[in-house]
Amino acid sequence: KNATGVTLIGLGPMGRAMVRRFLAGGHPTTVWNRTVSRADELVAEGAVPAGSVAQALAANELVVLSLTDYQAMYDILGQAEDALAGRVIVNLSSDTPQASRDAADWLAARGAKLVVGGVMVPEELVGTEQAYVFYSGPKAEFDRFEATLARIGRPDYRGEDHALAQLYYQAQLDMFLTALAAYLHANALVGSAGVSPSTFSPYAKETFDTLSYYFDDVVKQLEDGEYPGDGATVVMMGATADHIVGASEAAGVDTVLPKAVQSLYARTIAAGRGKEGWPSLIEVISGR
Ligand code: NDP
Repeated sequence: KNATGVTLIGLGPMGRAMVRRFLAGGHPTTVWNRTVSRADELVAEGAVPAGSVAQALAANELVVLSLTDYQAMYDILGQAEDALAGRVIVNLSSDTPQASRDAADWLAARGAKLVVGGVMVPEELVGTEQAYVFYSGPKAEFDRFEATLARIGRPDYRGEDHALAQLYYQAQLDMFLTALAAYLHANALVGSAGVSPSTFSPYAKETFDTLSYYFDDVVKQLEDGEYPGDGATVVMMGATADHIVGASEAAGVDTVLPKAVQSLYARTIAAGRGKEGWPSLIEVISGR
């Protein structure tokens, strides 16, 4: 049985890496890119160039998009709206969850289905063991193309709501970016007393390695909406947050990050939750 054909639109670093994985897996792969020359190397490696967006859409039922954002999808597919009927568009471009929902409606009005994806690794890891991709949208279409999509990374289907893939994607990066900034901030803090990053590194690793062990207890509290204050209370943790701000100010280190955390504690205390456990910050964070 021949491998499923795929059309890939958008040949930035991510798109090019994906095309190479599809070709390596034996999938006939048609490519299209706004800047035509970006397809040249891939065509030399076996990809089929489409002369227009309409031709790219006509070539395969499965059409993968790897673009800067969702506006690029409208700019491209808007050139060939009549060719969209019956296509399954798998959009692996980053954007807001609402952009995913709007795109699903726009495509449905033109007879196409949208599966949304969020690729969780950089270009050099596409197709490796570490690669995984969040998907959301119609399950039947996802199931039908899952084996093909698995070429670029382990598919992780999160549900029918089109917004879910980008929500998971951004939730992961929310933790990642904030944690990395906190790591740098902590380096600056000890660095103010001449402590080198290499001296500090084992301590930072200790903190990050043990962090997830708290989650099991916290998950239950978050799900119950009850935050027993028998461990670290909001008041106790809030005092620590104050000290981190004070230490940062004294050291001449930027205070934006610790002040954001301090504010969460202060507002939770102001809401009368000082004696609860620190997970009650979720009430302020969620805007409840
Ligand atoms: P790039 O921004 O480098 O490439 C984007 C592609 O979008 C190019 O093919 C570009 O065409 C096309 N494009 C952008 N705007 C338009 C437009 N208005 N009309 C037509 N084509 C357009 O992105 P990457 O390859 O790095 O990433 C693709 C997506 O994957 C992004 O959403 C990114 O956030 C996400 N991602 C990226 C990762 C990474 O490590 N790079 C990791 C995980 C996700 P042209 O060549 O003509 O400019």
